[in-house]
Amino acid sequence: MADNEVKKGGIGIELDHIFPIIKKWLYSEKEIFIREIVSNSCDAVTKLKRLVSLGEANVEGYNGRIDVRLDQDGNTITVIDNGIGMTADELEKYLCQIALSGALDFIKKYEGEESDSAASGIIGHFGLGFYSAFMVSDRIDVVTKSFTGSEAVKWSCGEDGEYELTPDYDGADDFLGEFGTAVIMHINDEGSEFLSETKLKEILNKYCVFMPVPIFFENVSEKGEKGDTEKEDKPKEPINDTTPLWLKNPSDCTDEEYREFYRKVFRDYKEPLFWIHLKADYPLNFKGILYFPAISSEYESLEGQVKLYYNQVFVADNIKEVIPEFLLMLKGVLDCPELPLNVSRSYLQNSGYVSKISAHITKKVADKLNSMFSGERDEYEKKWRDVKTFVEYGCMRDKKFYDRVKESILFEKCSGGFITLNEYLEGAKEKHENKIYYANDKTMQSKYVSLLASEGIESVLLDKIIDSQFITTVEMNSEGVRFVRVDSEVADALKDDGSIDAPPHVEDVFGKLVGEKTKIEFTSFKDKTTPAILSVSEDMRRFDDMMKLYSKDAPGMELEATLTVNTGSPLIMKISDTYETDPEKSEMLAKQIVSLCKLSQRRLTPEELSSFLSDSYNVLEKY
Ligand code: ADP
Repeated sequence: MADNEVKKGGIGIELDHIFPIIKKWLYSEKEIFIREIVSNSCDAVTKLKRLVSLGEANVEGYNGRIDVRLDQDGNTITVIDNGIGMTADELEKYLCQIALSGALDFIKKYEGEESDSAASGIIGHFGLGFYSAFMVSDRIDVVTKSFTGSEAVKWSCGEDGEYELTPDYDGADDFLGEFGTAVIMHINDEGSEFLSETKLKEILNKYCVFMPVPIFFENVSEKGEKGDTEKEDKPKEPINDTTPLWLKNPSDCTDEEYREFYRKVFRDYKEPLFWIHLKADYPLNFKGILYFPAISSEYESLEGQVKLYYNQVFVADNIKEVIPEFLLMLKGVLDCPELPLNVSRSYLQNSGYVSKISAHITKKVADKLNSMFSGERDEYEKKWRDVKTFVEYGCMRDKKFYDRVKESILFEKCSGGFITLNEYLEGAKEKHENKIYYANDKTMQSKYVSLLASEGIESVLLDKIIDSQFITTVEMNSEGVRFVRVDSEVADALKDDGSIDAPPHVEDVFGKLVGEKTKIEFTSFKDKTTPAILSVSEDMRRFDDMMKLYSKDAPGMELEATLTVNTGSPLIMKISDTYETDPEKSEMLAKQIVSLCKLSQRRLTPEELSSFLSDSYNVLEKY
């Protein structure tokens, strides 16, 4: 057979098996063909670069490049590289006799399963990336010229797997210079969406934006989307960034570069709060940058975006197996060359490597928080409200994370400013050991807060939904520490040593007004202006809150409460004295006091509220 005779053949595998399966399994993510074909080109360029640097290829001033051409008239997408290229033998070996015995076993095992991950597994493990292009093509031509100087070869393969190999092909100049490979995909109906310039650019941007070889895009259509507009010259600017910031040394990156990178990658024009540049050496060997977006409202979506790359090739967004769950609200990029390009979920779930990455990231995040806390506390306090939700969430999810950052967790004081748990406990040791007073509604509970403040007791503000769960975490992990809401008990510090005997009649009068479950107590307060305080114990109230969370229309049951009556209050003395002469007036005053106590606890039923209003007018009229 003469050397330049066209050869025909069938790909040396059980075709009836593989093609339908590739098509069926990968159906849901057809677009990855771009990643596969362009990354093959990247590899070809990288290989040649290496040979050049080793002196094994004699190419002067080598600059690798990849061109992607869209031809809407001919319905083709062509990817051209000036990489290593292939000889006819290599082409047959690499593209026609794929090492498939293993792949076939694998396919047989999973045949019939609709799982994307199994499909990705095959494609990745057995070097079938090239074939993913058949999901969108009914014919693929490969024109290639090896850097060794051998003749150009053309290979053309239909979706049935039948191919033609033309050695010594003389049409290579349309695509190639001295060497390289062109993959011409004749797009079928299923791939027609990729013939849109917008769509094609979008997926190129998604998968290839950080690939290490410059990629140039050109729409060569005469008609189609471009209409009759003048043809541009050859594109001069690559569509990708070949040296993404994460590859640089952290000490060489400026804040502005980090911000710029964030804006570009996440299209988020709000400033990130801070960032962590990750660089883990052997054995983890991964790089990346994690950003903390500003989350100021807990209602804002906490959905972050962590993009996973494999040697600068985009793999997927938000792989929750790699990123600790609570960090999924961060934004960032991770480049893990140790992971196979086509990672399957089951691989990730069972991989010790992956859990080490996750642990490493958690540690770095904790280190960053700790270093900001100790090194730049003022700045840290300014950012605290924004990071608080995620830190608290992280602490609830991951005990190790909690242990690492617990010293750096801040609490907002009702009086302004921030305090750590230890600082609080240390400062309050004399007055109330191991107890932290908190308000969850600064306005409603201001009376209690200021009563405590007048005795030098600080209260912290815990008014977010997550806080109530977070304090349980803190309590569970800190021996003896208790959070008590400012209105859940009367602090000993508020009492003086006045009489604790009930003045005449007062107990009876109040007894008639409160339900059975409310205990009445008598104490003398330092503050004489407050006649009584109603408190519901912390445990009871938490239980009640929880019940309300679970069933919104649970009947509001009466909680065990304590009405602490201030024996030092002139108003209480008045109730006692008046009773002798005008019991009705005495009862009315007491009723108003109970209503006001309930009001400040938000425990007035609608009926009680309207009765309180009419009583109030009554009191104003009469007395
Ligand atoms: P993988 O890239 O995972 O090995 P592929 O099916 O994508 O599997 O490609 C098979 C082989 O074909 C590659 O390993 C490479 O040797 C060769 N090849 C594919 N594309 C190119 C290209 N653009 N230039 C040179 N060789 C290529």
